[in-house]
Amino acid sequence: MDTEILKNYPLCHRCFGRLYAKLLHTSNYERGRSLKMAKAIELESKLYPLKERTGYEEERRKIEEELAYLYRSGLTEIRGIEGVEVVGEDKCPWCKGIFQEKNLEELLEKTLNLLREYEYDTFLVGTVLPRSIKKLEESIKTPYMESIKQEFNRTMGKLIAEKTSKRVERENPDILILIDPYRKKIRLQLSPVYIKGRYRKLVRGIPQTRWPCRHCKGRGCEKCNYTGKRYSTSVEEIIAEPFMEAFKGRDEAFHGAGREDIDVRMLGNGRPFVLEIREPKVRRVNLEEIGEKINRSGIVEVLNLEYGNKRDVISVKNQPHKKTYLALVECEEEVSDRELSQLEKKLENLTIYQRTPQRVSHRRADLVRIRKVYRAWTERIDPKRFKLKLYCDGGLYIKELISGDQGRTTPSVSQILNKRCVCKELDVLEVHDQ
Ligand SMILES: [Zn+2]
Ligand SMILES: [Zn+2]
Repeated sequence: MDTEILKNYPLCHRCFGRLYAKLLHTSNYERGRSLKMAKAIELESKLYPLKERTGYEEERRKIEEELAYLYRSGLTEIRGIEGVEVVGEDKCPWCKGIFQEKNLEELLEKTLNLLREYEYDTFLVGTVLPRSIKKLEESIKTPYMESIKQEFNRTMGKLIAEKTSKRVERENPDILILIDPYRKKIRLQLSPVYIKGRYRKLVRGIPQTRWPCRHCKGRGCEKCNYTGKRYSTSVEEIIAEPFMEAFKGRDEAFHGAGREDIDVRMLGNGRPFVLEIREPKVRRVNLEEIGEKINRSGIVEVLNLEYGNKRDVISVKNQPHKKTYLALVECEEEVSDRELSQLEKKLENLTIYQRTPQRVSHRRADLVRIRKVYRAWTERIDPKRFKLKLYCDGGLYIKELISGDQGRTTPSVSQILNKRCVCKELDVLEVHDQ
């Protein structure tokens, strides 16, 4: 084993052993010390026969010089060598003493103090290395080495687990504890809590998500009565508020499986959503209790609440859901029963070509979407008005399907009936799962 490296870097036993971490299943300290001792014995056995002889001064000097590097790196079993001082572990250029008990204890105590504020089951330690240490590692690395990061993660992880009785978890820990042991800096990174469920919006006139005032962009101005909001409340706010309170989060994000217009109700089994609570201090609450609180609002109801994860956000955003809508249609002229039953038939399995509606063209790219209506049902209210129930693809703009949006949507209800029709009211009756 090569001890050359000790010439340039008086590595402590632990660090020297870490260079060969993958070679013998023992602690880095044991491995490092053993390797140094084996080398020292080898050198001393060469030195031994030269001791009493003359004429071997140069060879002796070389061996003694090598021994001096071993001695310097803390192998005090070797007799002291004149003019060579032992380098203490705290001066080891790689670890700089971060594994010394007093340092570990100081960091442990600081960490426990920070953790005290949070509820969690699992954690993971992540070691942050100063650039100079990373550079050093790069220059001395062997194929068998483990990074000092790994050893520090393991050491600190064990200590924290012992003190807290919490579990180390590599994938998705509740808390990631980032420690720079050289600068003694600690930072906690908290995983969000995800709650998934479905919501019903029982009233018209509120948006799905918080809607900042467009004049002040949320800062608050005369136009928004210093609320910073265009609408006084939203589905997001009604749902998130009691959750934020219970989880003591810092921030939240509301992810819906699509959204309905402000004047559209969301009924039936509701629309899937995931609420993401960022930096929560509490991770387990009674979801049912919070659900009941929300349901008492009379504006929004939630159902099927359960804990989710990050993947649910992606799936709720990307899964296409078919929808059932109920529209109140009003025509300029009277509509006959025959026309209504013809409309039902014509809409069945009909492909609709829909250019981005005028009313959203300022925020959506102008393109043609292709969506299908699968079934339609009608029910007359009076000569000019009827209810139209539609089972169709998600992403179809229903108001435009009825009006035709000045030819941007074809075919349309107006076109089929050959009368100008508008959608007076709209409800989402069902968001279908696949
Ligand atoms: Zn060291
Ligand atoms: Zn404003």
